[in-house]
Amino acid sequence: MSVKRLYDDNLYQFDRPQPSYWEATASEVGVTASPLTSSESCDVAIIGGGYTGLSAALHLARDHDIDVRVLEAGHFGWGASGRNGGFCTMGGTGVHGRELIKLFGAEKARDYYRSQVEAVELVREIAGDEGIDILAQGNAEVEVAHTAKAFEGVKTDCKLLRGTLGIDAEILSADEVRERYYDSTEQFGAMISRPTFGLHPLRYCRGLANAAARRGATLHERSEVLEWSKAADGAHLLVTAGGTLNARRVLFATNGFMPEGLYPGFYGRTMPVVSAIVVTRPLTGAEKLAHRWQTEDPVINARRILNYYRLLPDDRFLFGGRGHTKGHVQGEADTYNDIIATMHRMWPEWSGVDIDYRWHGLICMTSKRCPAVGRLQDDPGVWFGHGYHGNGVNTATWAGKQLADWIGTGSEPQLPELVRGLGRKYPLARMRLKYLRLGIAISGWLDRRG
Ligand SMILES: Cc1cc2nc3c(=O)[nH]c(=O)nc-3n(C[C@H](O)[C@H](O)[C@H](O)COP(=O)(O)OP(=O)(O)OC[C@H]3O[C@@H](n4cnc5c(N)ncnc54)[C@H](O)[C@@H]3O)c2cc1C
Repeated sequence: MSVKRLYDDNLYQFDRPQPSYWEATASEVGVTASPLTSSESCDVAIIGGGYTGLSAALHLARDHDIDVRVLEAGHFGWGASGRNGGFCTMGGTGVHGRELIKLFGAEKARDYYRSQVEAVELVREIAGDEGIDILAQGNAEVEVAHTAKAFEGVKTDCKLLRGTLGIDAEILSADEVRERYYDSTEQFGAMISRPTFGLHPLRYCRGLANAAARRGATLHERSEVLEWSKAADGAHLLVTAGGTLNARRVLFATNGFMPEGLYPGFYGRTMPVVSAIVVTRPLTGAEKLAHRWQTEDPVINARRILNYYRLLPDDRFLFGGRGHTKGHVQGEADTYNDIIATMHRMWPEWSGVDIDYRWHGLICMTSKRCPAVGRLQDDPGVWFGHGYHGNGVNTATWAGKQLADWIGTGSEPQLPELVRGLGRKYPLARMRLKYLRLGIAISGWLDRRG
């Protein structure tokens, strides 16, 4: 039995971990979980064991004493939560700064940004409270202008972030960036903003899973939900290859890996997009000096199709960007070639440095260009949290907590309006990858114009 998803099956091999740097360096932190092999019941069933599902499970079990089980198709951290760039930073929307304010108005944008600051701090707080060694690095995000024209836009965004949205942000000239951070062929000044830090995403994910289990949640790995139906008494029945789970309430937390056919209310509501990462061998002191690299802060550039990068604790360089739009093996190879070529163009002195790791995964966008957090209107026993636009370390953790509080108290928390409810269904949803290709082509053209 298989559950239809948008991309090639190559992207949904739940029995195989991605060959990532994180998988290679988190091995000492295991998770105790077993597949579902019998017929069980619980109060709340969570589908998906990433940050959304695990944060919800932790808060439901710890703060609301609710009987909760998590069903994860792979191992805990198989999805984006185990393979992202580890940027714990503000974001989570498909439009930023000027455009965000234009689209939603200053008040709603400010309300949203307040929740984003809270979300970054929540990750730090959970790690501290639950004793998760996330290997935190840096204390700001650097957004670098890739052209002189882009720097003008970054300056405007900075003014809005600081003035209108109340965020701690400042502008640095190209000379200041060169002195304090790094230099590159595409460095024309930058904005730095706080709060932000880098972390080891898989250690954080496994730490969340362990904390949730310690607080009373039951975790099932290798338990892909293949069917979801409703009994006459309104209970939800989730069927896996090994067993069934009967639950009064369900939280659907599968983000970019969403099996859209599982529950009709979710079909066509999201746009999963491939993001890919490469990691070099450790850089030598001389290599770092060649581009004056001297920061542990996570960095992005100001392109529409942006790149993200950071120096890891063992001096390896992590570099990421958008991936292919088919999901098959050949697309994967092309993606890595493109990403490596971009990295070499930006830091030519590192052209000879070996790439030790490469992997990819799916981020999730929505038609409303904001996260979608809520409860189904026509089935109040179903909650959801997804659509973090490539910024889920903080946002998914936060969404999981909001949903747990909602389920646990029975009252809707004060969510920023931007995130409330599902995005509209994409028109002609079957054609979504075609729109995506067109959108990427236009954004790429605009980026090339500066
Ligand atoms: C390459 C990459 C880089 C990224 N970099 C960053 C970054 O630096 N900073 C940042 O903030 N965000 C980043 N993101 C985004 C971030 O990782 C995600 O937004 C976040 O992890 C989403 O968490 P989640 O729990 O909602 O989804 P996921 O972590 O994807 O978890 C969903 C889970 O659902 C499971 N699932 C799917 N179908 C079923 C089923 N039928 N039954 C049971 N389980 C199922 C999947 O196996 C998966 O583990 C990145 C993402 C990628 C792919």
